[in-house]
Amino acid sequence: MIIVLKPHSTEVKIKEIADITQKLGYEPKIIKGVEHTVIAAVGDERKHQTLEILKSHPSVQTVLPIQKPYKLASREYHPKCSKVKIGDYYIGAGHFQVIAGPCAVESYEQMRKATKDVYKTGVRIIRGGAYKPRSSPYSFQGMGKEGLEILQAMKKEFGVAVITEVVGVTHIDLIAEVADCIQIGARNCQNYHLLEMAAKAEKPVLLKRGMSTTVNEWLSAAEYLLVNGCSSVILCERGIRTFETATRNTMDVGAIAVAKQESHFPVIADPSHAAGRVNLVLPLAKAAIGAGADGLIVEAHPDPVNASSDAAQQIKSSEFHKFMESIEPFIKICSQK
Ligand code: PEP
Ligand code: MN
Repeated sequence: MIIVLKPHSTEVKIKEIADITQKLGYEPKIIKGVEHTVIAAVGDERKHQTLEILKSHPSVQTVLPIQKPYKLASREYHPKCSKVKIGDYYIGAGHFQVIAGPCAVESYEQMRKATKDVYKTGVRIIRGGAYKPRSSPYSFQGMGKEGLEILQAMKKEFGVAVITEVVGVTHIDLIAEVADCIQIGARNCQNYHLLEMAAKAEKPVLLKRGMSTTVNEWLSAAEYLLVNGCSSVILCERGIRTFETATRNTMDVGAIAVAKQESHFPVIADPSHAAGRVNLVLPLAKAAIGAGADGLIVEAHPDPVNASSDAAQQIKSSEFHKFMESIEPFIKICSQK
């Protein structure tokens, strides 16, 4: 931490602040400027009481952190790109994956058709929500346990890996029995208790960025997973809420690039929830690949018009091959060093 004192602080005041800093467990290094004196407090903030309390001291102008709030997720800690294994398939560190499937598991037939269609195009990790976080309590909430059984059947028949969302702590154990990767949705990105409990399942976690979380908060949320027993995180940008209404959410491609620089974990994008409309999914997917994404998670449904959730944004699964063909050259170009 750097403690900036108010201009023209007296020697007495400087000593007073330095003494408090020392008492809190840090070594104070005093640097005197023409107007300002700053004290560099040397010591690990995670092991001592925070120096933030000095912000309220009348002689202190501001207290600035130099350490990032996330360590295990950071590239400083682990400079090389990490790859994450979902079932038998890798993502990150040069392994690009397209994860696809319907927004929600609606029936065995629906899930089987979606899986069969996207499998044919090369997709090996399937998505599908058995538990859905819906804005309205009157909307379809997911099939629950029955939905998980359908996902299990897809694994058995196609040999695919499965990713599905956890919306509450009570479902974690049940989901962990089936899921190769647990999804934490945008609405729960900063649900710290859920992060802590999901981490204990010791499965890879796909962590969506919350619709109003900063990159810093998103990576700090990933840190919650990492300090609680999860060793593999996939970060997913899915659009943030801005003043713009032409898209469902604003795909923050800048955040993809920043997250890639800041963290060693794979960063993927969800163009479906950013777009909100099927005809925008492809351009947003291309933009995400251009920004350095390690993969995509895309909604595909056999009969989007009659989907129980997110009908407008789901690609017809029988046409998913067109999407895959269109992104292929972008993946090739962007994977070149
Ligand atoms: C989903 O993936 O179906 C979903 C609910 O996404 P998000 O959490 O990004 O809204
Ligand atoms: Mn959805």
